[in-house]
Amino acid sequence: MKKGFIFLLTTVIILTSASSTGIVSAESLNEINENIKEVEKEKEALEQEKQQIEEKQSDVENNKADTNKKIEENQGKQKTVKEEINDIDQQLTTTKNDIATKENEIEATNKEIEDLKNQIEELKKEIKALEEKIKKRDALLKDRLRSIQQNGGDMKYMEVIFGAKSFGDFISRTISVTTIMGQDKDIMEQQAQDKKVLEANKEEVETKKIEVEDNKVALEAQKEELIALKKQLDEQMAERETLMAQLEEEEAHLEEIILSYEEEQSVLNAEAAAKQKALALAESKKGDLEQLAKEEKERQEAANKAAESNNSSEPTTQASTGNPNGIFILPANGRISSHYGMRFHPIHNVNRLHAGTDFAVGTGTTLVAPADGVVFRAGWLGSFGNVIMISHNINGQSYTTVSAHLSRVNVSVGQVVSQGQAIGATGNTGGSTGPHLHFEVHLGGYGNPVNPLPYLK
Ligand SMILES: [Zn+2]
Repeated sequence: MKKGFIFLLTTVIILTSASSTGIVSAESLNEINENIKEVEKEKEALEQEKQQIEEKQSDVENNKADTNKKIEENQGKQKTVKEEINDIDQQLTTTKNDIATKENEIEATNKEIEDLKNQIEELKKEIKALEEKIKKRDALLKDRLRSIQQNGGDMKYMEVIFGAKSFGDFISRTISVTTIMGQDKDIMEQQAQDKKVLEANKEEVETKKIEVEDNKVALEAQKEELIALKKQLDEQMAERETLMAQLEEEEAHLEEIILSYEEEQSVLNAEAAAKQKALALAESKKGDLEQLAKEEKERQEAANKAAESNNSSEPTTQASTGNPNGIFILPANGRISSHYGMRFHPIHNVNRLHAGTDFAVGTGTTLVAPADGVVFRAGWLGSFGNVIMISHNINGQSYTTVSAHLSRVNVSVGQVVSQGQAIGATGNTGGSTGPHLHFEVHLGGYGNPVNPLPYLK
């Protein structure tokens, strides 16, 4: 009975001893290894996302290159069409000049025809006048001959002939009458000759007129041909101008597409940069966890050794709150001078939430990042004085930490920091009555403060 109790007690002691050292350490090591696996998964996912973005970037780059090629082709076409337009324009100018020349020629021809018509009219008049003269003289001559035959002669001839004073005078007078009659006949013959000349002239002018009129018809035909050519050129020109307008519109559209690709590129570039940063963060987190695992393993081995040698002394660690479940290391080491919670404000005479934990540390003490994260506020902020706010993502939960009243800030907004990295120095700036670090923890983004102690190691 007694022997059995001792055996049981020994077993309990051994089990208790085991659970308080080896098992707890193993659990914590498992947890770290689990975290490493999670970070690796996260990294893998990020790599995949990064690859997808790179594929998209490559697609957009190709599309952009294609579009630029289309723009080049379009500009080549525009050049050709412009050259064609210049060519047609020159042809049009030539054709218009040709038409003007033809019109001048036709105008000259019309004048010539008019002149010839006038000449013909003139000749006709002259011919008619001569005909009348010839007709009159012919009638006169016939009258004289008739009166000589019927009445022994024209009275005037008779008077001239019979008024003779002697035979000699009679002969002389008869010769004179005959001479007069012969002269009439000569004049008449001359006039007939003149008429023939005029008629020949008239015929010549009429032939000339027909020639000129034929020429005019030819000129009109040439002009019509030129007008038809011009019409054709105008049509070609209109076609090219329509084509040109289409090409210009297409080019503007392609330029718009290029712009939209460039916008897409800038978005993808920003996304790729963000993924790169997240990857760097995950890498750094993984390194820290591996270091932690190594340390934990060493500690476990040391603890096992200690257990073997039945030595219960614990290895001393760095300054900490002694909380094994904490996720943040102390940003600065010091005695807690004020806790999180409602407290009476002696000046404002009200109860107010003290949203953080105060640590009594001297001005200029190095401030370290409590965990891996990205700085999103660094510098002066009202009663906080100089403050650093960091966004953390730990095991799928995001946290925001605030370190206030700092004397120095060594990080900037957007900077990625890793746990333990020196980021500034504590101080007494803003609404502070003595040198201390005011440290806050928020779940998620800023605005949801919780007691920092359970989260501090
Ligand atoms: Zn405080």
